[in-house]
Amino acid sequence: MNVLIVNAGSSSLKYQLFDTASKSVLAKGGCERIGIEGGKVEHKVPGREPYEFASEMATHEDAIRNVIALLTDAERGCISSMKEIGAVGHRVVHGGPYFTSSVLADEDVLAKVEKCRDLAPLHIGPSLTGIHACMDVMKDVPQVLVFDTAFHATMPEEAYLYPIPYEYFEKYHIRRYGFHGSSHKYVSREMIKLLDKPAEETKIVTCHLGNGSSIAAVKGGKVIDTTMGFTPLDGLIMGTRSGAIDPAIVTFLMEKENLSPAEMNAVLNKKSGLLGVSEKYSDFRDCRMAMDNEKDPKATAAIRVLAYQVKKYIGAYAAAMGGLDAVVFTAGIGENNNIIRAMPLEGLEYLGIDFDHEANDAIRRPVSTTCISKPSSRVKVYLIPTNEELIIAEDTERVVSER
Ligand code: ADP
Repeated sequence: MNVLIVNAGSSSLKYQLFDTASKSVLAKGGCERIGIEGGKVEHKVPGREPYEFASEMATHEDAIRNVIALLTDAERGCISSMKEIGAVGHRVVHGGPYFTSSVLADEDVLAKVEKCRDLAPLHIGPSLTGIHACMDVMKDVPQVLVFDTAFHATMPEEAYLYPIPYEYFEKYHIRRYGFHGSSHKYVSREMIKLLDKPAEETKIVTCHLGNGSSIAAVKGGKVIDTTMGFTPLDGLIMGTRSGAIDPAIVTFLMEKENLSPAEMNAVLNKKSGLLGVSEKYSDFRDCRMAMDNEKDPKATAAIRVLAYQVKKYIGAYAAAMGGLDAVVFTAGIGENNNIIRAMPLEGLEYLGIDFDHEANDAIRRPVSTTCISKPSSRVKVYLIPTNEELIIAEDTERVVSER
């Protein structure tokens, strides 16, 4: 089945046409500056020159019409008509307490997604706009919603409850949800295939390290804990996000610096993380260059904080799972930087990790699944390039076939 994967932002719409039979991307691209002057559309078909053109798009409907026109264009496209799109899979960041797996969009489902708006105001609004636009333009094509939170729905109460008054859990659904679900699902599933034991006995720590980062403890194929929480701000230090900090720092800074909730939010989401600590670089690559070339102490500190936190969570999750069979690294930082795979694993021999520095340093792009632990290592360490699109496309196909 050809699944059109749609990821809508407030003024953007990214797409991929994915063929689930061949597990390959037929075309991908994005529309930018929707509703703003100076709109632009990018379109790529593997093996052909990328195509880009200017287009004023007042609404997301205009954007999706552009996408359909491109996909079905005799010269630039890859399908002959909209009938060749079996379903649309929408990436939705937050399913709140309502969705623990992917669902077919209908009125009732969309009303529940609307209720999640408060939990992720910057993301849910644009997602709903994108879903409605696709429903309007592609009336006969089923629309499936795939939630970033869904794979984490198996967490037990002790992992998802925050120790604040219980009434806030009941009233506002404040709890740990976890994000990057499709990525953790994909890499843990691939890792299970590489382990020589029954899936239900496997204990895997998956490290999705990118601009946004999270780690999950996946026991028997199910998440039992993860670092991101009520929002994607919790857990690890990220590009510009703080990750978990002493909650008292929030009120302390608001008082001392006279910050409004919105300003404090911006400090934690946009001015912290690698950028906050290094004072210059939100991108890991830049931080690393400053560390290697200039011995920049703040960039070095930022990287050391990340490496230390990854190590700490590997230990914590090994304890939570009662053992460890594998550690997986994925996403932009995890796939492309040897040091962030090596530093956290230093000194973890006692856990059964015998890291293979040579194999790790020999990895070249484009990356593919690679073992970076020695054959003698009891715990396997792997780099597995993530494939969130495959999970979204497969889930979409499954939901449509179960209708
Ligand atoms: P997002 O969360 O936005 O999807 P990514 O998974 O693309 O983020 O990760 C972005 C991070 O990955 C950046 O910090 C960047 O430095 C790092 N990264 C991406 N590509 C490379 C590369 N080729 N070499 C080194 N670092 C990279």
